[in-house]
Amino acid sequence: TLAASLSLLLSLASQMLQLAYIDELTQLPQRRALLNHLSRLGRRSAVTMLDVDHFKKFNDTYGHDVGDQVLKLLGSLLGSERGLSAYRYGGEEFTLVFRHNNKDTLAEKLEQVRAKVAEYPLVIRQQTRPQDSKQGKQQRGNTPGSKTVHVTISLGCAIRAPGETTEQLLKRADEALYSAKKAGRNKVAFAR
Ligand code: GH3
Ligand code: MG
Ligand code: MG
Repeated sequence: TLAASLSLLLSLASQMLQLAYIDELTQLPQRRALLNHLSRLGRRSAVTMLDVDHFKKFNDTYGHDVGDQVLKLLGSLLGSERGLSAYRYGGEEFTLVFRHNNKDTLAEKLEQVRAKVAEYPLVIRQQTRPQDSKQGKQQRGNTPGSKTVHVTISLGCAIRAPGETTEQLLKRADEALYSAKKAGRNKVAFAR
């Protein structure tokens, strides 16, 4: 019937929109989806902005492609966390949305996320070969060396205040993120 066809069409359109909202690298929904979610945010909620620490240096040291792999991994770590919705805000920044405003629960969860990322072993394949050609020859045919490195993130959390717009909420989360950076990075900070 017409009603059934229309309903199928609408559901397909909505699925296509959701797909358009997915960031290809991290497989997380991106900023557009976040803004959509925020527009429907409940009174009891909280938002966390997080940003990779010294990521420019990381890219410079290990290459942009390795940096991309780190963002992909972060996407998978954050995306599989329970009790929150994770988004790629843009670049090396992510946003977590919570549907409650219990500060103790938030603090515990965010500390867990911070520690999980900081402790995650990133295995980097060594691309550098010795300059000396003799050494180079000796190394050829050997299994390439690899080393384990880590990245850290800083997190800034804002609990929604009564009557606060989502714009104000995001801004406060961003300010909290800035304090976490200023406090030395690899830290969780709450907005006032
Ligand atoms: P801070 O601890 O203050 O955040 O230092 P930072 O170096 O992370 O901050 P900055 O804003 O100076 O640099 C952000 C870097 O993130 C620069 C850019 O190359 C990197 N970046 C942003 N998006 C991507 C991406 O999609 N892939 C990769 N590999 N790097 C990215
Ligand atoms: Mg940044
Ligand atoms: Mg950064």
